[in-house]
Amino acid sequence: MISRKKKLLSRDNRLRLMLTLGLAVLLPALALIFVNYHHVKSIERDKKIEALIHRDFQQMLAISEKKINQKAYAMADEARYHFPTPGIESDEEWDKILASLLSKNPWLSHVFLFDKEKGLRFHSQPQQMEEDKYFLKEHEMLKGAYGGWLSMEAHSLVEGMRKKSRPFNFYTNHVKRNTGEEYQTTAFFLLPRVSGDRVAMGGLCFEPGYLRKTFFPEVLEELVTEKLRDEGGNRLAMVVYSADYDGKYDHKPVAMTAEWGDGKPEVIHNLDDIFHGLSLGIKFQGTSANEIGRRWVLQSFLILGGLSLVMITGLVLAYRSVSKEMALARLKSDFVSNVSHELRTPLSLIRLYAETLELGRITVQEKKEEYYRIIRKESERLTALINNILDFSRIEAGRKEYDFRETDIGELVRNTLDAYRYQIEQQGFAFEQNIDPSLPTVRVDREAIARALVNLINNALKYSASEKFLAVKLYRAGQALKLEVVDHGIGITRREQAKIFEKFYRTGDPLVHNTKGSGLGLSLVRHITQAHGGDVEVESTPGKGSKFTLSLPLAAPA
Ligand code: ADP
Repeated sequence: MISRKKKLLSRDNRLRLMLTLGLAVLLPALALIFVNYHHVKSIERDKKIEALIHRDFQQMLAISEKKINQKAYAMADEARYHFPTPGIESDEEWDKILASLLSKNPWLSHVFLFDKEKGLRFHSQPQQMEEDKYFLKEHEMLKGAYGGWLSMEAHSLVEGMRKKSRPFNFYTNHVKRNTGEEYQTTAFFLLPRVSGDRVAMGGLCFEPGYLRKTFFPEVLEELVTEKLRDEGGNRLAMVVYSADYDGKYDHKPVAMTAEWGDGKPEVIHNLDDIFHGLSLGIKFQGTSANEIGRRWVLQSFLILGGLSLVMITGLVLAYRSVSKEMALARLKSDFVSNVSHELRTPLSLIRLYAETLELGRITVQEKKEEYYRIIRKESERLTALINNILDFSRIEAGRKEYDFRETDIGELVRNTLDAYRYQIEQQGFAFEQNIDPSLPTVRVDREAIARALVNLINNALKYSASEKFLAVKLYRAGQALKLEVVDHGIGITRREQAKIFEKFYRTGDPLVHNTKGSGLGLSLVRHITQAHGGDVEVESTPGKGSKFTLSLPLAAPA
């Protein structure tokens, strides 16, 4: 009845524990994992990482265009300041200055100066005119065309440029050269020192080969390096394409960073203004936005999986440790009731026999002696029990001290057994004792070793049913002393063998339930042997019997 109630109580506690763990930990954690899982899934589905990267690319390309323009403006502006000024330098000097500009700046293909009064001066790189017939043709053609066009349009062009914050106009066109079709950009600009009412302007063309081989590769490399330095992450690769007017780019790049390799750009941006007609392309070097997105998703799932695993492990550990605590609490309460029973029985026996003797009605000497013996035996049992409890509490408080002395262990075991022989035989046990007479002395705590042995003998006596047999053996095995206590009692299942040395633990055998005990004996035995640097082992077969073996090292601790 009592045990049924206890079982119900423990099931209640377990349920409460599961509910607490479930509601307080598992549910919120699962919800978190679930929400996160769906979040990552939605990022994967909508390709959000790629979109983010592409947006960043767009921005980078817009900034890149600005920087490229700035560089080209700076070059053109620098050249502008070295142009001759109509009205200041004499007309004769113009040609000299223009020719020297060309020779000092190989990035220029043509330079020209227009003055409404004096007409057009048009100079081109002299060496190129010799080497490239297309260039020579271009020179002639541009000279003629600009001469005619500017004499008509110069006025409105100059008016227009005067209104701008930067007095430049850029025109782009494709030109033919020995190397094939090339892209050229031409700047028209106001001259810095010309008086306000004079219609004059200068112009220059960026040499296509320079743009393709030097200007763009350098500026792209700078942009990519700067981005890596400022923001880190994956290295980028950039390219310049020649774009059609409908925005399509042909796949032959004009210029690119060293590691472009092949493949398509992730994002394209059409250039306007100075480099109208070209477009910039960008991609990752060695990876792609798609790949990065995929890796991110995979990583997130791995982290989520890892966290879930940690959480589940944590829960299992928490559950196990709490149920262990609960089991211990239960064992403790069992212990209290067991000990109370154990104390009460010998006490009432002692009281009963003492009172009977006191009344003086017992006259038969033998009877009297038997009663005395019972009183002594019961008080011995009480002492043993109380000693166990005291030892246990000392061990628990970490205050247990051992007194190691050089000891003839054979004699110690023999004396202990002698004190119990009568009890053993009286209970109908066949008793065997086998002590090696030639054992060396060892340093042990005598009282503790005797107590360990007594505990093992008491267990053998308590847990034997039909076949009553007890054997104690002491012998040497290598560098250890072995003390064996063998019985043919009820035995212990394999599963419980590991637990019987825990404090308060008692097996589920019905005989054990009906036998008094505190569950402390074996935990003391283990503590004592381990304090001697040894250990205790059990071999047992349910229904056949058990063998407990203490091993004590011969070189015991000082
Ligand atoms: P107690 O005997 O006071 O219950 P112990 O710590 O000495 O406590 O033993 C723990 C449990 O181990 C016992 O309750 C019993 O179930 C089991 N046990 C110990 N010795 C034997 C034995 N010789 N044969 C069978 N079972 C045993």
